[in-house]
Amino acid sequence: MQVLETPEELRQWQLAQHGAGRRIAVVPTMGALHDGHLQLTDLGRQHADVVLVTIFVNPLQFGPNEDFGRYPRQFPTDCALCEVRGVDAVYHPEPAAMYPAGFQTHVEVEQVAQRWCGASRPGHFRGVATVVLKLLNQTAADVAVFGEKDWQQLQVIRQMCRDLDHPAQVVGAPIVREADGLAMSSRNVYLSVQSRQQCLVISRGLQQLQQQVQASQRSVAELQAQLTAAIDAAGGQTEYVALVQAETLEPLADFSVAGRALVAARFGATRLIDNWALPVREVAT
Ligand code: AMP
Repeated sequence: MQVLETPEELRQWQLAQHGAGRRIAVVPTMGALHDGHLQLTDLGRQHADVVLVTIFVNPLQFGPNEDFGRYPRQFPTDCALCEVRGVDAVYHPEPAAMYPAGFQTHVEVEQVAQRWCGASRPGHFRGVATVVLKLLNQTAADVAVFGEKDWQQLQVIRQMCRDLDHPAQVVGAPIVREADGLAMSSRNVYLSVQSRQQCLVISRGLQQLQQQVQASQRSVAELQAQLTAAIDAAGGQTEYVALVQAETLEPLADFSVAGRALVAARFGATRLIDNWALPVREVAT
């Protein structure tokens, strides 16, 4: 496995792969890798000939009071995990190589980035879209794999690639969960023992909500209120529970189209997000 530290090293590797006729799948990450990330690399391999994992804690997507400074960093462990998983190369640039002095261009995706995490984390998707476009350009990615765990991010990136004509095929990967249902996340290490138990209300509540779309006649507003109350009763602080149209992320009026239930909540100081697919409600004829 090759470890590429600079844009120049990356460029040489990319030219060699494309020169040999190999398609490149890129898996952008911020490191502290877990099985959710590693399954993205497996999916990348199904769609391309070589897999490149990028590991970069992107300062641009963190707000001033967020966890950039203490975000978990474990590069040697991440490299070992990638190597065992059969990843072909890891790209690990320095912040100064990504954002040299004088950097002044950003990518702003509009409607699909404005609600939910976009509203509670101002500037977050601007930072994400900017770094992802840079990474897709630097790597000349043929395929780019992103997790459905960050559902809104996936829609933002699809929109950006469409709007700015990036040729990469954007592949979404299913959410990988712990045995008890918690969506894997690098931030789960922050959870106290108590919060780790309490936060299971999110995945359990989402699953139940999805079942109730069919099994009950409850409205969008009622199901949202029910999950919000359950999270708050379990000791969490709900940031949003939103039942939305799956691609545009506009609020659902009813269950006549495919939806997605999105949740962001804090347990202690840890902010967690999760989401679940919603079926179309069958109407009795
Ligand atoms: P991150 O390192 O948190 O920025 O995540 C890098 C990529 O891994 C993103 O595309 C995430 O959506 C994806 N990812 C993170 N956790 C999971 C998970 N539990 N299941 C599937 N994909 C995930």
